[in-house]
Amino acid sequence: MSVRRKLIAGNWKMNGSRAQLAELSAIAAAAREAAGVDVAICPPFTLISLAAARAGGLAIGAQDCHQSDSGAHTGNVSAPMLKEAGARLTIVGHSERRADQHESDALVSAKAQAAIRHGLRTIVCVGESEADRAAGRAGKVVSAQLSGSLPDPEGDGEMVVAYEPIWAIGTGKSATTADVAEMHALIRAHLIDNFGDRGGRIRILYGGSVKAENAAELFAVDNVDGALVGGASLTAEQFVPIIQAAA
Ligand code: PGA
Repeated sequence: MSVRRKLIAGNWKMNGSRAQLAELSAIAAAAREAAGVDVAICPPFTLISLAAARAGGLAIGAQDCHQSDSGAHTGNVSAPMLKEAGARLTIVGHSERRADQHESDALVSAKAQAAIRHGLRTIVCVGESEADRAAGRAGKVVSAQLSGSLPDPEGDGEMVVAYEPIWAIGTGKSATTADVAEMHALIRAHLIDNFGDRGGRIRILYGGSVKAENAAELFAVDNVDGALVGGASLTAEQFVPIIQAAA
């Protein structure tokens, strides 16, 4: 039995509507049944407060958080604002933001630090591209991202790491359990080297085409402490079996 509880977090990305929040009640019911598993849903910013009001114990989170608390940053949302809206966690450094918004490791680290300082559980994402993997440098790329993107984990919020190989996101191609085992072991070693005993307690999620059919085998891999789920988190029908596979 692992010392780390499993965490299953859904990332709705730029999807969802008020009507879609109807999915939350069945997800929350499954989360209550799955004692020993933490479950969260990260909808778009606009749905956070309504989702939090309807969450029935489910943790609601954001998909990004600005590094400053307030100020002249048009279009951004800060950690205190997220908390006031009812968010208990946030994702930072997702590969889609690293690509679309040109987010650097240093920026991701600053965002994560702000979120942790404000007591948000903070999922910091790393992962290599298909070209990096083909060239045999996946480990090197992920190590560099970890060195640059992870904040000091001291603070009220918990730091979580998500390994999401870019080529597995939204493609239906999940990494093999052998590749996942190797990368999660590398991440665990990095965490212990940098944070000592505390590094052994940090949860490492896998993300990239997680679905009901592959969840159980992924959760059986050493150092896989849960999943960050995109497409399959949008409906209770697809998400609940993943929660159950972690229980
Ligand atoms: P996916 O997305 O499950 O749709 O592959 C995962 C993610 O991007 O977090």
